[in-house]
Amino acid sequence: MLGGIPVADHLSRSELLVAQRLGEVGSVHSWELVTAVDGPGTRMTAFLAGCPLRCLYCHNPDTMAANRGVSVLADDLLDRIKRYRGVFRATRGGITLSGGEVLQQPAFARRILRGAKELGVHTALDTSGFLGRNADDDLLADVDLVLLDVKAGDEPTYRRVTGRRLQPTLDFGRRLDGLGIETWIRFVLVPGLTDNPATIEPIADYAASLACVSRVEVLPFHQMGRDKWAETGLDYELDATEAPSAELVESTRQIFRERGLTVY
Ligand code: SF4
Repeated sequence: MLGGIPVADHLSRSELLVAQRLGEVGSVHSWELVTAVDGPGTRMTAFLAGCPLRCLYCHNPDTMAANRGVSVLADDLLDRIKRYRGVFRATRGGITLSGGEVLQQPAFARRILRGAKELGVHTALDTSGFLGRNADDDLLADVDLVLLDVKAGDEPTYRRVTGRRLQPTLDFGRRLDGLGIETWIRFVLVPGLTDNPATIEPIADYAASLACVSRVEVLPFHQMGRDKWAETGLDYELDATEAPSAELVESTRQIFRERGLTVY
């Protein structure tokens, strides 16, 4: 069981591969019920396993590898979502698919999002946008809100933070704008890594250029993921990095506010 959801460990390897391709089974790391994070209202956030990025500040490094998740049937996850429908309705909440990187498993994501919409549940997709091309317009038609994590505003810093290119994320945000899908931009402020105006201002300009962006969240870096880094045996470069001061968080939020954005 994964927090009360059955684990599909009865499938042979070949059955599993077919079911994954069809989106009937996904690799899920964990799930939780949260309020006031990952979208509006009370949310069931499911963390899918596997991510192509290697963010230095990742607070869920145990979700980076696809094999750190367990196999879950889409139908079983949807049964659990169905159970919370009353809570979602009462709090104007819903489900959030997060990770890891959801779009590494687009077939599974598609099934969950479609199933949730059929149940009348609000859907949010938390993504770096790096694999945005894996989400076709059909999949995105079942997404009410995208939480788009923009980890830096210039290519060198983005590459330093994630090991990957920024451009796919920017392209994905433009697509969301074209499709009119509500988007929150999320940015993690890390002293000495992402606190340079040369990387923050381009994000603010970009966010202000997208009509679909209804809020920006500046998230202060924290050390809550440190133990997980130790457990995974991965090299954690930010061991000595401290959380940003309240002044730095405020001055960063101000950069976004100056462009007329709603900032938290
Ligand atoms: S995109 Fe998210 S899950 Fe992937 S490495 Fe970065 S912070 Fe971790």
